[in-house]
Amino acid sequence: MAKETLGFQTEAKQLLHLMIHALYSNREIFLRELISNASDAIDKLRFDALADASLVAEDPNFKIRVEFDAEAKTITVADNGIGMTREEVIAHLGTIAKSGTAEFLAELTGEAQRDAQLIGQFGVGFYSAFMVADDVEVVTRRAGAEGGTRWTSQGEDDFTVEDAPDAPRGARVTLKLKADAHEFADAFRLRQIVRKYSDHIGVPVVMAAEGEGDGDGEGDDGAEPAAKEETVNAATALWTRSRSEVKEEEYKAFYKHVSHDYEDPLCWSHNRVEGKHEYTSLVYVPRRAPMDLWNRESPRGLKLYVQRVFIMDDAEQFLPLYLRFARGVVDSNDLPLNISRELLQDNPAVSTMRNALAKRVLDMLGKLDDEDYGKFWDEFGQAMKEGVAEDFANRDAILKLLRFTSTAAESDAQRTSLTDYVGRMQEGQKHIYYIVADSPTAARGSPHLEALKGRGVEALLLTDRIDEWFMSFVNEFDGKPLKDASRGDLELGAADGEAADAPAADDDALCKRIAQALGERAESVRRSTRLTDSPACLVLAEGDVSEQMRRIMAVAGQAPPESKPRLEINPEHPLVAQLDQEPDEDRFADFANVLFDQASLAEGRPLADAGGYVKRVQRLLLGAA
Ligand code: ADP
Ligand code: MG
Repeated sequence: MAKETLGFQTEAKQLLHLMIHALYSNREIFLRELISNASDAIDKLRFDALADASLVAEDPNFKIRVEFDAEAKTITVADNGIGMTREEVIAHLGTIAKSGTAEFLAELTGEAQRDAQLIGQFGVGFYSAFMVADDVEVVTRRAGAEGGTRWTSQGEDDFTVEDAPDAPRGARVTLKLKADAHEFADAFRLRQIVRKYSDHIGVPVVMAAEGEGDGDGEGDDGAEPAAKEETVNAATALWTRSRSEVKEEEYKAFYKHVSHDYEDPLCWSHNRVEGKHEYTSLVYVPRRAPMDLWNRESPRGLKLYVQRVFIMDDAEQFLPLYLRFARGVVDSNDLPLNISRELLQDNPAVSTMRNALAKRVLDMLGKLDDEDYGKFWDEFGQAMKEGVAEDFANRDAILKLLRFTSTAAESDAQRTSLTDYVGRMQEGQKHIYYIVADSPTAARGSPHLEALKGRGVEALLLTDRIDEWFMSFVNEFDGKPLKDASRGDLELGAADGEAADAPAADDDALCKRIAQALGERAESVRRSTRLTDSPACLVLAEGDVSEQMRRIMAVAGQAPPESKPRLEINPEHPLVAQLDQEPDEDRFADFANVLFDQASLAEGRPLADAGGYVKRVQRLLLGAA
C-alpha cells in the first residue's frame, strides 16, 4: 500500500498541541509511558502465544530495548511484543479511545500552568513522546503478520503511514529529540529513568552494556557484532516479590503502570493467599475518581494473570461493581490459562476471590487516617453508598465507612460516622435519626427536627440524591434502628423520661375541625410532639414515597403512587391558638388550608394549587385589615 497522510482525530490534535506547548516539569515520564506500552504489548503476545506458539518462534525472548544516539539526538524504545497492523496503527496512534477525553479537553483554559496540571491528572500515554521529541517514528509488525508499517509524525495536524516490509515483530519507537531535550540522549540519564519508573516491569529492559558501542554515534554500520546488552531494571513482576522487599516508591510506580494514572495512589494492599485457592493480589485505591466513574458501563476491574502470565485487562469479576474505582492485579495459581471472560462469570473460585478482595478493600479503607479517608470519601463516597445496597455480606463494614453531615457538626464540611453518632446518643434514645432534604441548610431548617433539637438529640442530614434510596436498605446499625425524622411517630418520649407521643386525636375538637376543612388533602390531623417553633408540619407514613423520591421517579418517567401526608399542629403556637378561636367557618377553612400549604413550603415541596393558596392568603389579609 502506498504512503498516505492522515489527519489526527480532533481530540488527539488538541492533546498533542498541549503536549508540545504546555510547560510540563516532569518530561522524563515519556520513557515510562513508552516502556509501559512495550510491556503491555509483550503481555498481549505472551497470552496469544498460549494458543499459538508459532507466533513467538522466531524471537522467543521477550525484552524491551532502550537505545540512544548522542550525536543524532535520538532515543529508541523497541519491543518484540504483539505489534500493530496498519489499521491498528492508524486507530491507536491517530485517535484517543480513552473515555472522558472530550470532558477533559473542555476543561482546558489555554493557560499553560493550569493545563499542565490537568494533563498530570488525565494521563497522556503515547503522546507524551511529543513533550521531548519533534519527530516520532514507529516501525511495527503485528505478530503472525507479513510485513509491517511505518508511522511518522511531527505532532502537528497529521501523520503518515507506509509499508515497512522488513520490520521485525513488535514495535520500535524512535524519538528525534527537541533542542531543549538533548539531555535525555545520555546513558546515565536513561538508566536512571528506567530504574526509577520501570523497575517493576516483569520484562527485562535492556541497554547496551556500559562502555559498549551505543551512544557514541559509531557501531551503527552493521559491520561489527551487536553490542553487549545488560538488563537495567529488576525485571520481576512486582506482585510476585514479598511485601518487605518492595519499596513504597516501587509500589507507586507500579500503580501508574497498571492504572495509567499519573497521580500516586491513596493506598494499596498486597496479599498472597494460600489454601483452597491460591492467588496474589495487589489492589490500589486511586486518589481521584476517573471522569467516567459514574458510567457503570465503563471498563473496570483488575488485570488478571494466571501463574504470572497476563490473561486480560479489566477483569471485572474480581470486584463488586461499587468498588469499580479500585485498580490492580490478581494472579491466580489455579485458574486455567485459557479462561475467558464468559468462564470467569460463573466460576465459583472467582466469586470466592471477589468476596475476599472486596473485604480487603474495605479493610484497607477502614485503616486510613481521618485525613486520607476524608479525601477518599469526597471522591468515592457515593460508590460506598451503592455498596450498602449491593453487598449484603459486607454491609456492616460498609456502614462503618459511611460519613454524614449532622446537626451535631459545627459545619457542613465536618462529617460524622454512624459509630460516632452512636457514641453521642442520649440516654434512653432508641433510634438513629436522620432527615432527607435537598441541602444541609434546608435539612437544618426542617420543622421536623425541632423536637429533636429541643432535646439535644442529633440527626443526620442526608442531602445526596441517592441517600434516601440507599437508606431504604439499612434497618439498623449496631442494634439501633434508623429512623426518618419526617415520618411516622418520633417515639422520642422515652428519651428523656416523658410520656410517649400523643395518641391519635379522634377526640380532639380542633384537630377534627381542621381535618374537615382540609378534606381530602390530609390523611389525618393531630397534635405534634415534633414541633417547638413552627405552627405545623407534614408527616409521611413510614412506607410513603417522599418528595425527594417523587422527583427521582418523575425524572425516570415513573408515576409516583398517591400518598397523603398527616398534618401535625403545634398547639403552643400563637397561630394555632388563634385558629382555634376563629368563629367564622369560611375563614377557618382558609386559615387551615394556608397552614397546610405553608407546612409544604417550609419543606420545599411544590404547592399543588399555588393559585388557591395566594387567593386564601389575600382573603385572610383583607379580612384582618
Ligand atoms: P494506553 O497505553 O493507555 O492504551 P497509549 O496512548 O499509551 O494509551 O497507547 C495507545 C495505544 O497504542 C495502546 O493502547 C496500544 O494499542 C497501542 N500501542 C502503543 N504502543 C504500542 C506498542 N509498543 N506495541 C503495540 N501497540 C502499542
Ligand atoms: Mg500507555
